[in-house]
Amino acid sequence: MRRWPRCLIASSVLFAVACGGAATPELQLIEAAAEAMGGLRNVQQTTALTVKGEGRVFRLGQNTRPRADLPYYEVADYLLQIDFANQKWRLGQDRTSTFLTGSPVNGVRQTYGLDGDVAYDEQGDRTVRASDQVARDRWAEMYHNPLGIVLLALDETSTVSNLREEGGQRVVDVVAANGTQFTLYVAADTGLPSKVVSSSYHPNLGDVTIETEFEGYQETGGLGGFQARLILPRQYTTNLDGLTVSQYTTTSDTTTAIGDLSVSSDVRAASPPTETVTVEVDELAEGVWRLAGQSHHSALVEFDEFLVLVEAPQSEARTLAVIARARALRPDKPLRYVINTHHHFDHSAGIRAAVSEGLTVVTHRTSQAFFEDIVTRRHSVVEDALTRNPQPLKIETVSSGEPYDITDGRRTLQIATIVDDPHAEGMLMAYLPREGILFEVDAFSPTAAASPFAANLLKNIEDRSLRVTTIVPLHGEAATLEDLRSAVRRERPL
Ligand SMILES: [Zn+2]
Repeated sequence: MRRWPRCLIASSVLFAVACGGAATPELQLIEAAAEAMGGLRNVQQTTALTVKGEGRVFRLGQNTRPRADLPYYEVADYLLQIDFANQKWRLGQDRTSTFLTGSPVNGVRQTYGLDGDVAYDEQGDRTVRASDQVARDRWAEMYHNPLGIVLLALDETSTVSNLREEGGQRVVDVVAANGTQFTLYVAADTGLPSKVVSSSYHPNLGDVTIETEFEGYQETGGLGGFQARLILPRQYTTNLDGLTVSQYTTTSDTTTAIGDLSVSSDVRAASPPTETVTVEVDELAEGVWRLAGQSHHSALVEFDEFLVLVEAPQSEARTLAVIARARALRPDKPLRYVINTHHHFDHSAGIRAAVSEGLTVVTHRTSQAFFEDIVTRRHSVVEDALTRNPQPLKIETVSSGEPYDITDGRRTLQIATIVDDPHAEGMLMAYLPREGILFEVDAFSPTAAASPFAANLLKNIEDRSLRVTTIVPLHGEAATLEDLRSAVRRERPL
């Protein structure tokens, strides 16, 4: 795409005439910000940015309680290269997990980027195309830094309007040619950009605000010479609806060439991925099924007059497919409950869909407020099942130490808290005493690289004297109690 710079601020009559009049107050603010960053002309002549540093990347929706701090990866060797002229960027970083997990990483490089309207992720030797929503988010991310947003605002195809003051800062809206809207905050004292805000869509949270704050402005490095140095931030903090999702401490360089950041032609030619949902049914006992998915499973338990689903994971599409399959297995009985093991986003992504289908949610009391909030959130960017078919939340909660049984007199499903689970507070498991079947997730996944929560699960089983013959993890394949014991031994060798 060819981009035309706006006329420079009217310094001569000729320019003013050529540009059709003097700059608006909004553009004057942008031009003054560019001056504060090292000069309007220098900013306009900058086409590329290299940012290096270290920081933290937080795991949204994976905290131990819905309102607890987010767990994070420590990031080293962060390298972000942006080619503003061609709308391409590439980010690489080494991540080390600082939280207990079944799949820990230690300095593993993550690389992803954007080439125009194509987003991609590098996975080992392979590069795969990411979804169009990811591409839209990454396109906007390119302007979540002061240089990007000022260049965008100066671009003739953008609209800059609505100058106002908020909390001692001057604020303008910048709307790009593709309709994406950004709000730029400029500090009154320094004249430097302090924050960029734009909106996005998150499958669990719906419409969300993404905000990046800039602090610690300093002169950029690089070879310099005849090329100008700019004043850019050292600290970038990105928040999603007020939750910090990344923090970087960086140095910037606008003088080094960054090379061609184009994605290969076969990745560009590939179609954006579409979600594949398959539901495989395994009958574990009479009237007890595992509804297996690619990575996240559910289970179904039949009672005299109704059916109970365990878990609505991963996505709306998966949960709707699982619900349809469950109903097809016993079309004469209503599917009444969905048991949610814990609030983590990958295990609660289908709860809005389940509510839209009229299911009553059974979860731990710890997660009640979380789900009350989740069902009221706006999903206007993508209208999800609950937006299309609004239903009230029906919720029943389980408290630690109190039995919660679903029974018809013959079959009983005991829902219990996994006490002291370090993975999630108020983690639920579901146990069928007559069949000796235990449903659990994330406490023990047989194929995981590590099993840091297995010992606690075993303790819970022993403390409650559960006579478990089959463990049905909602990740991976069914296992025995002995499999769990060996995982515990591997984790803590004698
Ligand atoms: Zn989890």
